[in-house]
Amino acid sequence: MSAVTSEPTSQVTSQVMVDVHGVHKSFGTLEVLRGVDLQVRTGEVTVILGPSGSGKSTLLRTINHLEKVGQGWIAIDGELIGYRRSGGKLYELKEKDVLKQRTGIGFVFQNFNLFPHLTVLENLVEAPVSALRRPRREAEATARRLLARVGLDDKADAYPRQLSGGQQQRVAIARALALEPKVLLFDEPTSALDPELVGEVLDVIKDLARTGTTMIVVTHEIGFAREVADTVVFMDGGVVVEQGPPAAVLDAPRHDRTRAFLSKVL
Ligand code: ADP
Ligand code: MG
Repeated sequence: MSAVTSEPTSQVTSQVMVDVHGVHKSFGTLEVLRGVDLQVRTGEVTVILGPSGSGKSTLLRTINHLEKVGQGWIAIDGELIGYRRSGGKLYELKEKDVLKQRTGIGFVFQNFNLFPHLTVLENLVEAPVSALRRPRREAEATARRLLARVGLDDKADAYPRQLSGGQQQRVAIARALALEPKVLLFDEPTSALDPELVGEVLDVIKDLARTGTTMIVVTHEIGFAREVADTVVFMDGGVVVEQGPPAAVLDAPRHDRTRAFLSKVL
């Protein structure tokens, strides 16, 4: 299989939940990811920073197989994304198997992407019932528990348009959790919010971090990165320029590009 340059083997330990290996991605002649390597350990939070256009969203989308990689491979919990092995060879997964794989990877978008015609409760129940074949009663009980967790148990019967942006994003997080994902991906989850609503969403994400949810968060919220991230990754021009603990990357960056970026956002 041409897209996979070498298979994940012994270097994938059970400790690594997300393993991105030598990933390239182009749109036409524009090479957006130019060999990205990234490992996220189980239970850890990785925050990705970087200027607009550096490939952050594209990287998240390849992890979720919303975009196919051009070269390299991605594994979640040791399972190759988008491919299956058979008789020592690799084959592309069929669309229905991609969808199944994707249910194990939660994605929270900048613009919430709730189903507008469904109530909050139905937004949380829909995928577990249709994709995971959970009994409706069980899915509803889980949904109510998750809504309580994000502080919205009184909004089960509301429609998305009746909620503030911060509330809608908390519903979107609860909806992602309803599929019991192995990893949660956040693409600028607070960028579309009025400033006074940012905190309530970050608080929910912090709570998930405390309870050991494996997460990759693309954000410009440096304070959040400092407080919550186990690893901060700085991307620019489709590569990981540097990564490390927040104190190292944010307070003592080694690369000029990181320093230039931080001087603009801090
Ligand atoms: P970031 O999230 O860091 O701002 P993106 O991953 O969204 O960056 O985009 C990186 C580059 O890839 C940008 O130049 C963007 O215009 C381009 N790009 C992203 N998606 C597509 C697409 N579907 N088709 C063509 N170009 C794209
Ligand atoms: Mg983006």
